[in-house]
Amino acid sequence: MASLHGPGLLVDTLMDPVLTSTMVAELKPATGTGGGEGRIGAVVFTHPDVDHILGNQAVSMEVPRLGDVKAQQDILAQAKTLHRMRFTVNLGYLLWQALQLIGGPRLLPSLPGWMRPRALQVFSFANYAFKLGGFNLHTIDADKLPAFAKTIQTGDEITLDIGDASPLPVKFWQMGSIHSKSDSVLLLPQSRVCYTGDLLFIGIAPVMWAGPAKSWVTALDDLLKATGEDWLFVPGHGPVTDAIGVQHVKSYFEYLHQAVSENCADLPLMQPELDETCAWRTLERMPNQLKEHFHEPERIVICAVIERVALRTGAPAKVDVKFKLQWISKMSEYELKRDYLSTRLMRSEL
Ligand SMILES: [Zn+2]
Repeated sequence: MASLHGPGLLVDTLMDPVLTSTMVAELKPATGTGGGEGRIGAVVFTHPDVDHILGNQAVSMEVPRLGDVKAQQDILAQAKTLHRMRFTVNLGYLLWQALQLIGGPRLLPSLPGWMRPRALQVFSFANYAFKLGGFNLHTIDADKLPAFAKTIQTGDEITLDIGDASPLPVKFWQMGSIHSKSDSVLLLPQSRVCYTGDLLFIGIAPVMWAGPAKSWVTALDDLLKATGEDWLFVPGHGPVTDAIGVQHVKSYFEYLHQAVSENCADLPLMQPELDETCAWRTLERMPNQLKEHFHEPERIVICAVIERVALRTGAPAKVDVKFKLQWISKMSEYELKRDYLSTRLMRSEL
């Protein structure tokens, strides 16, 4: 449908404009040196999560943006909350620095037991904000988040004009709301390469914000059927992988499905207050083989909570930025407990 001049098709941007500018500069040997960004003919967005869209303004606004209509809607919704996210992160960033002056998280073990839960909450909020504060969020212009020149859908083809060689077809495939509000992949049949967005996390535990796990397993099965053993897959996070890497991610979601439906059979689905109990149990019983493949296996706790929400409602969960930040904060809390408090204490609280 769309014919682009130039060999460059950028798939997603990074978390902020500064990082994205650096990436685009480093891509120049591949995209050529004509024009500001080399010869990037278009930017295609696989999904609307902040770590894939907030660097958008680093690419000339004349370069067309493409993506699915649901991704566009979510980007517009997030633009309205960007200032609040930035304020929260700045506040926590300063708090973390202030806490360092009185000893930082090393203080935690010396606090009386009654004070620890609240102190942990404060430290974990400040800790994740400090990590996010490492990005150049102040440089992001909320009015310059991706605005698609054209929304595209499954079956649409983008043709890259690469000079003397024959044009390179790129197929767009919207796979549903699974990891995020809308997840799409790009297939390059001639090169046998698939850009999967966040339907693949390699080496680090995937996070699921929509679900359920069965949809993720089906999507990966569909991808494997549409490709082949000699294909390469470019994940949203982690190094390039092959069909075996896809299988590993599939087994993570097979376990998630089985853990939430079978291991938590005694925790009624209709009682949301039991979601967290089920989620921590899912982590506790996670097979070592999976833990070896995925760093930060504790992220499966978020997936299990979302799995329960999706199963309860019979539809992908719809979570906002606030929910995501709350859970990212809980992951920081887990890390602080693990690193500064005893394992015994942690387990007794599960
Ligand atoms: Zn991502």
